[in-house]
Amino acid sequence: MRRSPLFAAAALTLFAAHPACAADPNEARAQIDAGFERAWPELEALYRDLHANPELAFQEHRTASVLAKKLKAIGFEVSEGVGKTGVVGVLRNGTGPVILIRTELDGLPMEEKTGLPYASRALREKDGKETLVAHSCGHDIHMTWWIGTAQALASMQDRWHGTLVFVAQPAEEIVSGAQAMLDDGLYTRFAHPDYAFAAHIGSDPAGSVTIKQGFTTSASDAVRIVFHGQGAHGSMPDKSIDPVVMGARFVTDVQTVISRQKDPMKFGVVTVGAFHAGTVGNIIPDQSELLLTVRSYDPDVRKQLLDGIDTTAQAVAAMAKAPTPDVEHQRGTGSVINEPELGAQAADMLAKALGPSRITLIPASEPGWTASEDYSEFADNGKVRSTYFSIGGTLPETEQRYKAEGKPVPVNHSPYFAPDPLTSIKTGVETLVLATLMVAGN
Ligand SMILES: [Zn+2]
Ligand SMILES: [Zn+2]
Repeated sequence: MRRSPLFAAAALTLFAAHPACAADPNEARAQIDAGFERAWPELEALYRDLHANPELAFQEHRTASVLAKKLKAIGFEVSEGVGKTGVVGVLRNGTGPVILIRTELDGLPMEEKTGLPYASRALREKDGKETLVAHSCGHDIHMTWWIGTAQALASMQDRWHGTLVFVAQPAEEIVSGAQAMLDDGLYTRFAHPDYAFAAHIGSDPAGSVTIKQGFTTSASDAVRIVFHGQGAHGSMPDKSIDPVVMGARFVTDVQTVISRQKDPMKFGVVTVGAFHAGTVGNIIPDQSELLLTVRSYDPDVRKQLLDGIDTTAQAVAAMAKAPTPDVEHQRGTGSVINEPELGAQAADMLAKALGPSRITLIPASEPGWTASEDYSEFADNGKVRSTYFSIGGTLPETEQRYKAEGKPVPVNHSPYFAPDPLTSIKTGVETLVLATLMVAGN
């Protein structure tokens, strides 16, 4: 992640006089930390339990029920089974803004190799086979700071007013759980939020908080194309309509959508990751299948790339006098977009509460992260004001150890990814509670 030298100079002074967030964020932070210290033994036990018992996308039944029970005990009105395995908790505290705080529930189909005493050995079913599952993206850390945040805000009701909507979404790793919850009436059966906050753990220094203004993560889309030809003997191409040639032409031509149509200053990727056709050399097959991934930040670029893929596929088939190809768009997810002003306000407030050395604000003019995240769906096309925080989990001694071995610190989805639980969870609680007080503080 990139560090911005602009932060101290610009953002701090620009928003220094903002009236929200409890006149004194530093004092609020002291109260949060005192509560956190008391809650830590219970939170640590929760974290270890979630870590050792990960579940896959849309199968998070145990995880959801553990969180639902905790949230009920804190005093939230809890609904389960929203968007299959999602959990929603509502806490009303007078009139004021509706604030959504989100965590993910799912783990990854992979083996954990951290060697931690509570490392996962959980086996779950995937495509009819048993597979090892691990929380190698850190969603167990997120669930724990989500519960810690709920506890803190419930115990500080004199400091804020409004309605909290705590959302635990399934299936983030396959970018479909957020949409599943929205399709199941998240914003109609419960309240439509004015604000939304979420945070993701990463391998930055432990205790650091980074906010990217503007486009933060990339939009991700998948496309499947089938070219229909006419099979024939390999020696008689004139009797065929060759789907291998159509596929090959498509792979090459579609790159001109990137190089000749898209603004070269804007991020966009079209990758054909799979091309399936034919069996042996002397048979011209009757169809070819191509699987694509498409990444972008800007919604206009996203549309331009998806339209360009359609046009290229149609044109390639027309040139071969072939039937219309099948072009199937598998719904992906849009970019997470941090509203620049709210992001700067949050960075300013966190710098006061946690100290400026822990906070980084990356301006909108710099690129975001190429990974994708379906938290973007909760922003409801910009109708919800939102900030997505990135939180560091690597202790200095861990960084030193990897440096001495000449290896990079393991990142999310590595089998060795092991952020420090105490610093990470505490920073997550501080960040999400302070962000809520910033927009709903008395
Ligand atoms: Zn992940
Ligand atoms: Zn993740």
